[in-house]
Amino acid sequence: MNAPRTADPVTRPRPPFVQGAPKELFIDGVWRPAASGRTLETLDPMTEQVITSIAAADADDVDLAVRAARRAFRSDEWSALSPYRRGSLLLEIADVIEAHADELATLDTLEMGGPLALTRWMVDHSVEVFRHYAGWPTKIYGQTAPSSPGQLNYVLKQPLGVVAAITPWNGPFLQMTWKVAPALATGNTVVVKPAQQTSLSTLRFAELLAETGLPRGVVNVVTGTGGITGEALIQHLDVNKVTFTGSTAVGKHLLEASAGNLKRVTLELGGKSPTIVFADADLPAAARAAAADFLAGSGQSCVAGTRIFVEESVRKEFSALLADEMATYVPGDPFHPDTVMGPMASRDHYNKVLSYFTIAREAGAVITTGGTNDGDDGLFVAPTLIENVTNDMRVAQEEIFGPVAVLLPFSDVDEVVRMSNDSVYGLAAYVWTRDLSRAHTVAARLESGSVFINTTGQMSAGILPFGGVKQSGIGRDHGTDVIDAFTETKTVVVNL
Ligand code: NAD
Repeated sequence: MNAPRTADPVTRPRPPFVQGAPKELFIDGVWRPAASGRTLETLDPMTEQVITSIAAADADDVDLAVRAARRAFRSDEWSALSPYRRGSLLLEIADVIEAHADELATLDTLEMGGPLALTRWMVDHSVEVFRHYAGWPTKIYGQTAPSSPGQLNYVLKQPLGVVAAITPWNGPFLQMTWKVAPALATGNTVVVKPAQQTSLSTLRFAELLAETGLPRGVVNVVTGTGGITGEALIQHLDVNKVTFTGSTAVGKHLLEASAGNLKRVTLELGGKSPTIVFADADLPAAARAAAADFLAGSGQSCVAGTRIFVEESVRKEFSALLADEMATYVPGDPFHPDTVMGPMASRDHYNKVLSYFTIAREAGAVITTGGTNDGDDGLFVAPTLIENVTNDMRVAQEEIFGPVAVLLPFSDVDEVVRMSNDSVYGLAAYVWTRDLSRAHTVAARLESGSVFINTTGQMSAGILPFGGVKQSGIGRDHGTDVIDAFTETKTVVVNL
């Protein structure tokens, strides 16, 4: 059954959190309006109606938040906590998220248009993220270094200080927890700046922290635009680290801005990930996964497998299977239980995605499936496959961030590895083959932060490192690397 394509603004879910006065900034445990009094509206992409307003912070508000985070960082209330207590605070946060999971998922679906099943999965995943990081404070060891007689030399792992966490509009709650949980586990304090389109679940999270024992000022939230609020954070000289997920363009700018006080940076940026289907693969499974890997979240996913390379000998068979799978992704109201794909997250973004259909046609490519806005007056885009593509075309190189993939044939391993690596990005790659030896060989040769073999993309709640090579980013979320990314190493030399 297809989900409804229109929604009555009057009957849209309206959690109590979005009713009433504009949402304020959360600084030092207190809600306050922006000093300028300015606000921004946040929209439901399904109806394009205003949900509520949020405060638009400027440099003065950001400075207040950074000062609060610095004060909290130095306070005994936070810095003198035992590792056990810090771990149990993270468990308390996990519990409170779990208890409010439906509401948090509803807020994300309202603002970003992702199907409720997807946003609910993201919130459940975030509970696991906090539970994972709750185990870390008691396991961050330093080292005893080899020392000459009469000396004791050792190495400490210490928190960085104030961390700025800047998140994108796709998967807002999940992205926030990926940053806040490791930052707290390692003893830092945080100022979060969510994307202005999707701030509500992060603000509600801040409100829920009152139900835990987390000291005030340890987590602060400033909302507003990237150009003003985000810019003030990345320029602030008392921020020790920025952990950022967003576009490559902003990531590059952030790297320059961080030079002022040599901030540490973790950058999780864009992607144009290859799916490689060899002739010996389980083709129905590969087609099912390939469709899911570029259509989940309406393709508004950094790891979307948007360049599908298929071995020439099975191209026709695979294309037919893929078309059948794509036909099951019918965009509709993200609150309807049958919906697997919602609208684009905003009208600007919708227009950007549609513009690539013209770009494709003008370059001589052929849109074999989709290629239209899809239905009624909403911001829907039909699942789209573009063929007759060469790897140098813009549609094969640029991140479209919509339900759009290109399909290119290949004839041997070297050719497909070369084409896959011919991209400025390197975030994820998907390989389908029954030849285990070839699977591992190709995985080793792909320039990619993650490689998924005979499976769809998967995200671990903290266990597996996640991040990109080349212009997909710097550093890793999760795994053991993340502890280094949120700590400084201090060498202590003692004359006994
Ligand atoms: P964006 O770069 O426009 O914005 C991301 C965040 O940065 C937002 O909070 C925004 O307000 C802020 N920002 C914008 N300009 C800024 C500035 N000058 N200074 C400081 N902050 C600023 O990205 P987006 O459109 O929100 O998100 C989509 C992008 O995110 C895509 O490119 C996608 O691939 C990427 N992404 C990457 C990952 C990953 O893990 N690698 C995950 C999700 C999304």
